[in-house]
Amino acid sequence: MTHARRAAAQALDLVKVYGRGDAAVHALDGVSLAIPAGRFTAIMGPSGSGKSTLMHLLAGLDTATSGTVLLGDTDLSTSSDAELTAVRRDRIGFVFQSFNLLPQLTAEQNIELPSRLAGRAPDAQWRANLIGMLGLGDRLGHRPAELSGGQQQRVALARALLGRPDVVFADEPTGNLDTASGQEVLGLLHRSVRDLGQTVVMVTHDAVAASWAHEVVLLRDGRLAGGIVDPRPDTVLAAMASLTAPAAARA
Ligand code: ADP
Repeated sequence: MTHARRAAAQALDLVKVYGRGDAAVHALDGVSLAIPAGRFTAIMGPSGSGKSTLMHLLAGLDTATSGTVLLGDTDLSTSSDAELTAVRRDRIGFVFQSFNLLPQLTAEQNIELPSRLAGRAPDAQWRANLIGMLGLGDRLGHRPAELSGGQQQRVALARALLGRPDVVFADEPTGNLDTASGQEVLGLLHRSVRDLGQTVVMVTHDAVAASWAHEVVLLRDGRLAGGIVDPRPDTVLAAMASLTAPAAARA
């Protein structure tokens, strides 16, 4: 018998409208989905389909016009700003396209900054595992400017994972990397799920990047437009092509 996986995060009939009246944009138009715990999920869709908006809402970075966001059992839609700040600090890890490391801090200081700000002492064994898996042992004293893009993103990944967050959200994590470094970072995101049991959600428009995920969620025009389990680059490309085909060709 198979058991449904626990949802790390859920969206229930999520709506996000920017602007009002004639200028209103329905960035999300009733999205319901569950992000399974301990899995690597990619969110894909054409530009403007609502990927970033969905990620921001799931991560408690923005609030919905209507609908519900659950992180585990916590209802983010009814949380105060102070509660959302605490959720982002204590339960969520972020990896950005542009790394977002502080240039004046060493790799080690960057990795530990969120824990220090939260007043948490990182688990020494977990920290050592992460640094080893991410190959950062001999880079800890370097500042970001002394590191390659791939190394900087690995530092950002260590920073995101150090607090063992409920979910790591990665926003186009390979967008600023060459192909080889990008593949390395994707492999490490995959390993953080497979070997460390973490939950990762990645927004990407790159079919090869998405093929590292266990599951792809497709968006179009602010709505769910299907999904792919065990994606491969060719199945993702085909799904994306059918999403962006003119309506007549889809009928
Ligand atoms: P994606 O990440 O798939 O490119 P977004 O979530 O960024 O899509 O955007 C979805 C839609 O919402 C787009 O039409 C976009 O122009 C609009 N949008 C996003 N953010 C804002 C904003 N702050 N103000 C107004 N419109 C926005």
